[in-house]
Order: sequence, then structure tokens, then C-alpha cells
Amino acid sequence: MTADKLAARNMLQRMIVDFTTNELAPLDMAIDKLGNYPDGLFQKVIDNGLLGMILPREFGGAAFDYESAAEALHHMAFGNASMAVTLEGHFKTIEQFLKYGNEKLNQKYLPSATNRIFAFSQTEASGGSNPAGISTRAVKQGDNWVITGDKIMITNGGLAQVYCVLAKTEDDEFVVFVVDQDMPGFQFGKREYFLGLKGVPVGEIVMDHIVVPDYHMLGKIGQGHDIGNNAHDDARILMGAVLAGILEHELKIAIDYTKQRKALDTPLYELQIIQEKLADIAIAKQNTQLLYEAGAKAKDASQPYSEVAAMAKSYGSRAAVSAGDKALQVLAGYGYSREYPVEHLIRDARAMEIAEGTVEKMNTEISLSEVTK
Ligand SMILES: Cc1cc2nc3c(=O)[nH]c(=O)nc-3n(C[C@H](O)[C@H](O)[C@H](O)COP(=O)(O)OP(=O)(O)OC[C@H]3O[C@@H](n4cnc5c(N)ncnc54)[C@H](O)[C@@H]3O)c2cc1C
Repeated sequence: MTADKLAARNMLQRMIVDFTTNELAPLDMAIDKLGNYPDGLFQKVIDNGLLGMILPREFGGAAFDYESAAEALHHMAFGNASMAVTLEGHFKTIEQFLKYGNEKLNQKYLPSATNRIFAFSQTEASGGSNPAGISTRAVKQGDNWVITGDKIMITNGGLAQVYCVLAKTEDDEFVVFVVDQDMPGFQFGKREYFLGLKGVPVGEIVMDHIVVPDYHMLGKIGQGHDIGNNAHDDARILMGAVLAGILEHELKIAIDYTKQRKALDTPLYELQIIQEKLADIAIAKQNTQLLYEAGAKAKDASQPYSEVAAMAKSYGSRAAVSAGDKALQVLAGYGYSREYPVEHLIRDARAMEIAEGTVEKMNTEISLSEVTK
């Protein structure tokens, strides 16, 4: 890495740490309780240029590599995991434009990705793990396509203005189209009432005969699943980073508590049975970080990264839930209290055992990848 690039990356991380410390971390508990971002907070994310972090300069972005973006989301999730997941959903979608979008589509949409959120939607009411069963249809009409269907559980659904949607053609070929909220026939549906990541709206879009031109297709006819899988891979690296941030937060809460709480005259951190819990949380955080960093480095170097990305999210999500439980036990009664943040960190981490592919699906992929080596 050149000295200039390293300096820019360090500056980004300092900026993210400052933004997190001053703007996000103080609102972490409030976001969980409110079930939303407080008014004006998301605008600050836009004003600080964070939506354009990985966007190439020609579209007005800062052109950081994936490793820098993942590190940034790790720092951000230490203060608030919801906002880091909001950015994860946006970044993984931008990546699909950059990999599969044609020039006309990218020129039309990507300049607005610095101030508008983009989202990727595959899941339908029939299920998310087996997207072959989707019902959304794309029917060719002259030079246009007519899209009809209903997508649910979309990260940033309602907040995002631009959506990539997986659909089937009349010949049952899979395709991905870009639709936006201003198009006739586009409607927002229900927002999910989820357990954790309370700031992130996860919602539905209903598409009633939305007409889009041919160039709104990402990639080619038949590439829909590849694009969906690639979006998962890109998301999983970033979710690994978010999980490392959650683990770091769990560790800090547990350590701080053990320094001030005593068992009679002995600080808790001197008790071997407590030390074991702190060590487990620290090891889980380090392992998750190593996995997401390996995924991001491989992606930046154009090496295969699908398996290690799945490992980062599969390992990291289960580790963060389990570590959160250990941190809760260290704080005991206060850990179980909703006045303390540990319990919401467990709920936040739990989402990532499901979103962007369940642990079961990821472990199937990891094991298939191992047995076919
Ligand atoms: C916070 C959050 C954010 C989300 N964001 C998005 C988003 O941005 N875009 C989007 O499209 N979707 C999103 N989703 C939906 C998510 O992708 C799906 O919930 C997930 O794919 C699982 O689908 P399902 O809930 O329909 O469960 P199902 O697919 O019905 O699975 C039920 C159970 O069966 C298991 N199972 C099913 N099929 C298989 C299989 N073939 N092999 C092994 N096990 C299997 C699953 O692991 C699970 O345990 C989000 C979900 C959450 C919780």
C-alpha cells in the first residue's frame, strides 16, 4: 500500500471513530428503545460523506477499498451496530452495480449513492433460503420489462430509495432489475417488528407492473442467482466486521464492570472463573476480526473470498451471541437489565445468524467448499 493510501485510510478510521464516539455511541441505547434512528442522525451520516465510502471517485465517492470499509464498520459497530448494518446493506448493493451494472445504469444511479440508500432484495414470503422459489416476475414488453411482485425483509426497506430485485422471466430465467421508489407501481409495505438492530428499518416493497427499460438489468438474463450470491458474499465480509465491533463492545462492557465490581474485597477480574469468560470473549473478537479481514483482503486482491466471507459471518454471529451471554453473566443482574446495553447486543448479533443467509445455509456452503477442494 502506498504512503498516500495508508494516510487516507488512517484518516478515514480516525473520522469514523470520532463520528461514532460523538454521534452514535451516545445514542446507542436510545436507538434500541426508540426502534428507529432519532431525527437528523441519518442526515449526519450523509453529510459526513459516509454513504460514498467505497464509491469510485468518478461517481463522487471516496473510493476506499473493502478492507478500509470493513474496518470502518467494525469501529462504527463498536458504538452502534444498527448504523453499521445500514451502511453494510448500502455498500453490498453498490458493489453489485460496480460488478454487474452497465455504463448507462451506473451513470444514472451511482452519483446519487452518496445521498440515497441502495438496497438488495431477494426474500419473499415463500422463504429466503431457497430463492429459486420466488414469484416476482419480469415480463419483456418491447424494449422494456414489466416487474410485478412483493419483496419482504429488506435491510433499509423504507429508508432506501433504490432497490435491486431478483425476479424470474417468463422462461423462468433469473434476473436482477433496479427499481426506484419514484416509479409508478412502486409502494412500500410493512416494516418488520424485529428483535434487534432496532435502528435498521427492515421492510417490504410491493411492485405492481413497474415498467423499466432494458438497461435497468444488472448483468444478463440467467445471472440473477450469481448476482444474489455475490451480494451475499460481499455482505458477509461486512457483517463479520459489524460482529467484531459488537464483540469488542461486549468485551469492553464486561471488562469495565469487572474493574469496578468487587466480590467483597476482590475485583471481579481477579477471579479465575470470570477471567475465563473475558478470555473467551476476547478470543472470539480476535477470530472474527481475522476472518473478516481475510475476506476483505482476498476481495481487494481479486482472490476467491466466498468461503472465508461465510466463515466470518457464520462464526462471528454465533460467537457474538455466545460472548454476549457470557458478558451478561459477568454483569449478572445488571446484565439482565434493559438499562444496560449487553442484552441488546445479543439481540443485535442474533440477526446476523439469519440475514444474508442463515448459519445453516452458510455452513452447507462452507462444508461443500471444503469437500470439493
Ligand atoms: C435483520 C434482517 C435483515 C434482512 N435483510 C434482507 C435483505 O436486505 N434482503 C433480502 O432479500 N432478505 C433479507 N433478509 C431476509 C433473510 O435473507 C432471510 O430471513 C433468510 O434468508 C432466511 O429466510 P427465511 O427467513 O424465509 O427462512 P427459511 O428460508 O424459511 O428457513 C427456515 C429454516 O430452514 C433452514 N433452511 C431452509 N432452507 C434450507 C436449505 N436449503 N439448507 C439448509 N437449511 C435450510 C434455514 O436455515 C432456517 O433455519 C433479512 C433478514 C433479517 C433477519
